[in-house]
Amino acid sequence: MKNLLPGLREFSANVFPEHQEMFETLSQGQKPHTLMITCSDSRIDPNLLTQTKPGELFVVRNAGNIVPPYGASGGGEEAAIEFAIEGLGVTNVVICGHSHCGAMAAVAGKVNLDPLPCVKKWIGHAHATKRRLDQKNGDFTLNDVVEDNILVQADNLRTHPSVSAGLRAGRIHLYGWVYNFEAGMVKIYDGKNKRFVPSVEVSADHAKDPNRFAL
Ligand SMILES: [Zn+2]
Repeated sequence: MKNLLPGLREFSANVFPEHQEMFETLSQGQKPHTLMITCSDSRIDPNLLTQTKPGELFVVRNAGNIVPPYGASGGGEEAAIEFAIEGLGVTNVVICGHSHCGAMAAVAGKVNLDPLPCVKKWIGHAHATKRRLDQKNGDFTLNDVVEDNILVQADNLRTHPSVSAGLRAGRIHLYGWVYNFEAGMVKIYDGKNKRFVPSVEVSADHAKDPNRFAL
């Protein structure tokens, strides 16, 4: 707590008064534009990364930004995805992995998960990612695992009825990102070239053809 209390004091005394109008507006309800599914890793700050404010992102976080296929886990992520899309009407869904992801190192077999049975079970939901790696005969980097996992989790996400209906109706768009925190850069999946490209290179092409960057 001693690491947290000074921050709480600072928030109440200075940050809240500075943004009081925004917080009062937020008290009337939320209307986020984006569902972000990302890793629980403490080095990721979705609002900092996207320069968004409270109320803009609806965030689902877990080890490895994993989305089990619909009905496979019965966990809270299913409810959160459904609520974001059907209840809140988000129009963007972003799956955001990141560099140096411990969960992905575990998927690649580089971490002993025997002392962590719950993590081991959860990582099992990335078995399709593991299968893709097995086809590469050991010739891959951790970054390849992170990128492959985003494509696998996008496939899983499409099995959720709210997602498939939203995509079919054109109400939502699905994106794959990789956050490289040591470079201060996000790469976005480019469906045309089937690879992740730096976000700074995307703007002009995105304006011409937004669907190119949708998964
Ligand atoms: Zn991670």
